[in-house]
Formats: sequence, structure tokens, C-alpha cells
Amino acid sequence: MEDRTYDMVDEEQCRCLLEEAKKARLRAYAPYSGYQVGAALLTKNGRVYGGCNIENASYGAAICAERVAVVRAIAEGETDFVALAVVADSPEPGSPCGICRQFLAEFAPRLLLIMANLDGKVRRGNLETYLPYAFNKDYFRAEEAK
Ligand SMILES: [Zn+2]
Repeated sequence: MEDRTYDMVDEEQCRCLLEEAKKARLRAYAPYSGYQVGAALLTKNGRVYGGCNIENASYGAAICAERVAVVRAIAEGETDFVALAVVADSPEPGSPCGICRQFLAEFAPRLLLIMANLDGKVRRGNLETYLPYAFNKDYFRAEEAK
């Protein structure tokens, strides 16, 4: 399978997405961990949806920046995603957690991930590489999916 997502996002778009993710990060609600994360999701229509992590006193109710961005896009009727930038203040570039990888794979299994930290260290990769053999609708038996 060809690696289309890399071709669809140029350096300028990557830079813009990282900037949007940084802006979104400033809106994070993370009073418990102090770990603020920002995300910016680029759709095929060229729109960008930002997201930030939102924690809760009931820890399990917290939601990551990546899923916030996706939820916002889906709610606006967008389902075709090209790239997702993630920024966190960490030694290594921010990286989507397992739940977010699974959540993203539902809509864009070959999504381009652009991960960065505040020091400007950037890592890029395809979601398929970060979540190989992702669980998806193909695992359901055809007769049960009806
Ligand atoms: Zn996550």
C-alpha cells in the first residue's frame, strides 16, 4: 500500500499544524497531572480541529487531546482525516496513547502523526506503524455485522 498521507502534507502544513496544536495545548485542563497536551487534526477538506486534554476529579473520565480533536471534527460532519499533530511538554515528542491510537484507527488507519515537544523535537510516522494490526470492523464476522 502506498504511503499517501506523507505526500498530502507538506512542510508548511506540518509547521502550521504544530502551531495549532501548541495553541490548543494552552487550553488544556490538567490540574491533576499538570501534563498539558495539544492536538490539531487536519481533514481532507483542509479544515483543522484543535483539541486539548481534559482531566476530571474522577480520573477515568479524562479525555486526551487527540480524541477531543477527532470528536470535534466528527461532530462537524468531517470523517476523512489526513494528519494529526500532537504537542506536549515532555523530554520526547508527545505520543498518542493506546486508546487514542485505536480511536484514530477507526477513521484513518494510515493517518500521518506529527509528534513534537516544546523544545522543537519532532517525530513523524504513520498510525499504521504505531498501531499495527489495529482492531477494526474487519474482525467482525460478516453475518454478525448485518
Ligand atoms: Zn490518548
